[in-house]
Order: sequence, then C-alpha cells, then structure tokens
Amino acid sequence: MDKCLFCRIRNRKIPSLCVYEDKMVYAFLDINPVNEGHTLVIPKVHAADFLSITPSELPGLIWGVQKVAAAVQKGTRADGFNLIVNNFRAAGQLVDHVHIHIIPRFNGDGFQHWLGKPYEDGQADKVKEKIRTFLK
Ligand code: AMP
Ligand code: ZN
Repeated sequence: MDKCLFCRIRNRKIPSLCVYEDKMVYAFLDINPVNEGHTLVIPKVHAADFLSITPSELPGLIWGVQKVAAAVQKGTRADGFNLIVNNFRAAGQLVDHVHIHIIPRFNGDGFQHWLGKPYEDGQADKVKEKIRTFLK
C-alpha cells in the first residue's frame, strides 16, 4: 500500500537511487545529502516513526542499517558516520515513514555536534525518575 512518499519510493512508483534492498528494508540515497553518500534506510512495512515499528520489524531494520552503514563508509571512504532518526515535527521529522539517516563523515568536514549544558543541582535525578516511571 502507498501510505506515504517513502512507501511509493519503496514500491518504485517514485524513482530513487537504491543502494540495497532485502525482505525487510529498502535503502536509497537522500535527494539532498549532507555529505556525498548520505543514505536513508526504511522498513518495507510502513511505520510512521521509531516508536511505531513493531517488534517483529525492528531487528531486520537494525541489521539492515548496520549492513548498509558499513558499505556507505567503505564506498565513500568516510572516516566515520552518523546514524540519525528524527522523530516527530519537534525533532525535524518531515516524512512520516521512519527512516534512519546514514551520514558519512570526513575528518574536518566542519559539522559540529549539538552543544550540551550541565544539569542544575538536583535536576538530573528528577528527570531520571520521570523517565523511569515509564519503564516500570
Ligand atoms: P527527515 O527530516 O528526517 O524527515 O528527513 C527527510 C529526508 O528525506 C530529507 O533528508 C530529504 O532530503 C529526504 N527526501 C525527501 N524526499 C526524497 C526523495 N524523493 N528521495 C530521496 N530523499 C528524499
Ligand atoms: Zn510509508
């Protein structure tokens, strides 16, 4: 079923540059790469975001990402790579079919990590407890 843009890509109704496909995943070049070789890996079964992937789909997706990431790194002769999954609009998700970005990275390519800031006194414990509540 063509639920979204990436379902249509996976069903080859919209062209893409496919680098890998198996039973579980489809991987293709991002049309607007951060660095050359920037690749997207999607599960073949539609899931809107990372939290919506079913337990039976998840292992195949992760295996696929690892396999494709190794090839992206070798094929682009990258020094490293980032795996990024944007979830929901607040985090910059634009396409509602979960996709893992594999971004090849090169020494000195100039991209920087987000800046962090230390917790204020007692804040870390409070937020730890809030998260743990949902893991009981
Ligand atoms: P996100 O912000 O994580 O949802 O990222 C969506 C990504 O999809 C962006 O990096 C886009 O460049 C990429 N994208 C959008 N349309 C296409 C397309 N037709 N083919 C390949 N990549 C696409
Ligand atoms: Zn979809």
